Amino acid sequence: MRLFDTHAHFTDKSDVDGLLGRAAEAGIVRVLAVGGSRELNRNALRTPCRVALGWDRDQTDVGDGDFAELRHLVTDNARRVAAIGEIGLDFHYSPESAAAQKELFASELALADSLSLPVVIHTREADEATLEVIDSVPWSHESQLRGVIHSYTGGPGFAGKLLDRGFMISFSGIVTFRSADLVRESARFVPDDRILVETDTPFLAPVPLRGHQCEPAYVVHTAKCIAAERKTDIETFADLTFANSEHLLGTMD
Ligand SMILES: [Zn+2]
Repeated sequence: MRLFDTHAHFTDKSDVDGLLGRAAEAGIVRVLAVGGSRELNRNALRTPCRVALGWDRDQTDVGDGDFAELRHLVTDNARRVAAIGEIGLDFHYSPESAAAQKELFASELALADSLSLPVVIHTREADEATLEVIDSVPWSHESQLRGVIHSYTGGPGFAGKLLDRGFMISFSGIVTFRSADLVRESARFVPDDRILVETDTPFLAPVPLRGHQCEPAYVVHTAKCIAAERKTDIETFADLTFANSEHLLGTMD
């Protein structure tokens, strides 16, 4: 079995070799190291993984210089950069900065378009605004709007609108939580060629490891839960999500 954890963050304190070693033993042979702040971008690049680099919704104070820095970071590491991310909107934790978040999100979608890279999007309690910003960006080629909505927590209705716009949907350990019936409904709804799995390490450890600090090895529990929901076996589900991940994020070489 081969699994791809499409979303993990590394901190200054992360034991990268230990985390990736335990992941490999559990069959997780690829991990996307995801940035979002200066620290997270730097730590993603410290790993041997392919990376997503960006400014997340908490970085609304970034200016032109920071954008130039991000563009340089991407072009200097072009072989390793698989996506711009994470980017997006969070009106649950930071409703007061909604307007600034939307402006930053739009700028980064335009950056991804100019670099022909996919995007890794976070969206929480911001369904309408997320679609509004996505639809407002004048894509240079329609086919360049590519990306994933990570750690999906919505229902099939919003998922359908994202699928219509060409996105993949990624599920984290939240799908295993007892209260997450709506998320499981979405995990049954997303078609075979659009579904991904992730941990969002170091957050959101799945059942039965809830409460532990999450790590990429744990994505196997999330994949097993979704495979059961979809009435398929873990090997088949692992294979299809691995292929989808490589389709979106590229192969290693
Ligand atoms: Zn994240």
